[in-house]
Amino acid sequence: MSRHKAHIVAALLMLIAALLTASIAAGQTADRKVPEQARHLAPAPASLRLYVFDCGKLKIADTSVYGFAPKDLATTDMPVPCFLAAHPKGTLIWDTGVLPDRLLTSGGSVTQGNPGSSAMATVARPLKAQLAEAGYAPGEITYLALSHCHWDHTANANDFAGATWLVRQEERDAMFTQPPAFARCLTPENYGALKDSKTVILNRDEYDVFGDGTVIIKSAPGHTPGHQVLFVKLRKTGPVLLSGDLYHYPEERTEHRVPKTDFNREQTAASRLAIEAFLKKTGAQLWIQHDFTANAKLKKAPAYYE
Ligand SMILES: [Zn+2]
Repeated sequence: MSRHKAHIVAALLMLIAALLTASIAAGQTADRKVPEQARHLAPAPASLRLYVFDCGKLKIADTSVYGFAPKDLATTDMPVPCFLAAHPKGTLIWDTGVLPDRLLTSGGSVTQGNPGSSAMATVARPLKAQLAEAGYAPGEITYLALSHCHWDHTANANDFAGATWLVRQEERDAMFTQPPAFARCLTPENYGALKDSKTVILNRDEYDVFGDGTVIIKSAPGHTPGHQVLFVKLRKTGPVLLSGDLYHYPEERTEHRVPKTDFNREQTAASRLAIEAFLKKTGAQLWIQHDFTANAKLKKAPAYYE
């Protein structure tokens, strides 16, 4: 080999070595990247926080099922919120939206109806993106509870199948009985994965999720057989009760009207009396989840109530 050729070979070897080093370094960087689901994005808060997510909006075509003409309502639209209670000991997601995130692929909003409903739903932002902004991924949520099984509360439930599911036996039965029509739990494609979730059956009026009285699921049947509401005791905001669909329009509360489509209307009336007494006793504010005017005033995640 000539001296000139030896120089070229040496230069080539150095180049190969440099390329190898660079690719190994890149490989190490890639290895260090923890998968989205496993990463713990937010440290546990020192005290309870409540996040409110925008999980969409419902246009109600027929308000007569709620016992009202449109002119008797402040607005016929209903918001669809989802909530996350972040406690020092873990997290609870409460309701999961009306349309699943998988439909929001274009980056724009999606409008869609449901065979079991006369309402049209519009969702502008995926729940998972809003959760990530607050510092959470579905795979690290500790508990899932649904106020009830209807499509506008269960759309992203499958994403939380890794959480421990807190549910009443009657509701779980309604969700997995065939045909499931009697309680209008009609979207197993969105909640079916919960069938294999670690599950706690709630069989008493109250279930204290973290054992310190700050997050309590309360039975409030009638709208569906195992309908429930959520009490959260916040340090600065004070106690708040999330209604589920105990009421939809705030006018139902003032005019004492029970929707015609409730599974058991007498049971709804009894649940309302019990919950109103509970609100009086605790001094809790009632947040009617589908109340458009009240929801518009709530701060949305990543801001939170504490
Ligand atoms: Zn609803």
